[in-house]
Amino acid sequence: MARIVVIDGPSGAGKSTVSRLVAERLGFQYLDTGALYRALALHLVRKGKMPEDSEEAISEAVKDAEIKLEKERVFLNGEDVSDTIRTPEAGHNASVFSAKKPVRDSLLKLQRDAGRYYDVVAEGRDMATVVFPDAGVKIYLDASREGRARRRYSQLAEKGMPITMEEAIRDVRERDFRDSNRELAPLKKADDATYIDSTDMPLEDVVAAILLEAGRIYP
Ligand code: C5P
Repeated sequence: MARIVVIDGPSGAGKSTVSRLVAERLGFQYLDTGALYRALALHLVRKGKMPEDSEEAISEAVKDAEIKLEKERVFLNGEDVSDTIRTPEAGHNASVFSAKKPVRDSLLKLQRDAGRYYDVVAEGRDMATVVFPDAGVKIYLDASREGRARRRYSQLAEKGMPITMEEAIRDVRERDFRDSNRELAPLKKADDATYIDSTDMPLEDVVAAILLEAGRIYP
């Protein structure tokens, strides 16, 4: 069985940067599961689906979505959508559609397959609780809401997609609420996950703490 490190946590806690660095240092593949939800939501929006559509309609629409992750590029039916899925709107759509059963079901196998064949650092919301409950290393990466909003604000500004600080705070608050309160696979810390609050920690210290734990389990 492959070696698996999972990193769950709320939006903006720094999971992507940390996971990428941990994967690089361990020589594992980086599995960005948020990108899968973003790509599938893009497909549904393009097909004119609405969150209030019936489960049957959404189930039908996900059938013709073929999503692939190659290195860090995401492909939707052969089209490279890696940049298209990085807008705040795509994040919002992913958060809304990810509460739907057909969406979660259709991405489960894809995620598990990745962990079957390769050593992975997988980041998301339900890695430790649902997708990889037997992972050797489970981390829950958190940060204060203000810290996360600040990070989101600077990330989007850097990409030329400026939002106001108020919008960033609202976005983080809404996503926290939706991701934590949905019925299926809500965001929550697994009982056996290690909690790290990165609010006042330098990036390198967060990475070092995770590598230390990974080194104990996977020497
Ligand atoms: O991590 P990222 O911001 O790219 O995720 C986008 C949305 O996809 C999240 O707000 C969440 O609703 C959903 N998601 C999820 N389960 C995961 C990863 C992401 O529900 N494992």
